Amino acid sequence: MRVLLHACCGPCSIATVRMLRDEGHEVTALFLNPNIHPVQEYLRRREAMQEVSRRLDLPVIWRDAEYDPVAWMRQMAWREQPGVRCRVCYATRLERTHSIAARGGYDAFTTSLLYSRRQRHEVIAEVGHGIAAAISDVPTPFLYRDFRTGWQEGIDTSREWGIHRQNYCGCLYSEAERFARDFAKVAGVKEERENI
Ligand code: SF4
Repeated sequence: MRVLLHACCGPCSIATVRMLRDEGHEVTALFLNPNIHPVQEYLRRREAMQEVSRRLDLPVIWRDAEYDPVAWMRQMAWREQPGVRCRVCYATRLERTHSIAARGGYDAFTTSLLYSRRQRHEVIAEVGHGIAAAISDVPTPFLYRDFRTGWQEGIDTSREWGIHRQNYCGCLYSEAERFARDFAKVAGVKEERENI
């Protein structure tokens, strides 16, 4: 099958692409991630994806024109809790992937988000299948796979290739949550100083 793979980043795409190719699929990646904050981090992840594309001889559709952090933040207003915002974040990206796959005549679409052990795997699967079922006038099914089995391979290869490996999911909220403890330590020191 011709499969359109939504690629959230380079490291998550490595094992994902290999597994799909092992099944005999022809894979094209789609880099469409308006969630990434800040812009410099977007550029770093884009560069890593370029390197993966080069190493794996992987065609990539770049949708940089759809990177609009202000619009993304507006969309998340009052939905900031992780359980809510992540579902919206997955749906936003997978709806676009489905749309591009349908118009491009692909046989199926999927996402490298299914590779990460840190993502809400069942929610991603539910959202992907839901989008394919809801927009059934052009049937482009969601190809579910548990790419997490390639977790270590993805880590080892991305380290070997020296590509950027992010240490938070992507959005401003996830960065704040990831470094909350570090921030609290600093804030604690400041408070002590202010008390002196
Ligand atoms: S934590 Fe990750 S999946 Fe959830 S909203 Fe932020 S970028 Fe999207």
